[in-house]
Amino acid sequence: MDREPLIKTLGGRITCPRCQALSKRSQSQCKKPAMQGKRVCRNHGGASCGAKTPEGKKRRDNARLVHGRETRALRDTRKHKLRELRELEAVMAEIGMI
Ligand SMILES: [Zn+2]
Repeated sequence: MDREPLIKTLGGRITCPRCQALSKRSQSQCKKPAMQGKRVCRNHGGASCGAKTPEGKKRRDNARLVHGRETRALRDTRKHKLRELRELEAVMAEIGMI
């Protein structure tokens, strides 16, 4: 589902960026305008300035998994394997296999 980038407020007189958050329950897009310079409204985290304390930043880094199937360790493994694959492909191209 595509999200609407803009919303009209004040009876259609003002066009502004629309909150890009989706409802958990209905999966429909939030109907509020986004906060200035942000992608989401105040209710969906637009007022948050992020973690400030070292403990909070550490907790954020450890907890920022959206679904648990993608981790930094998995990304590192994939990055190294893809690098190996590119090197192998370069060698194969050099010797005329591909
Ligand atoms: Zn919102």
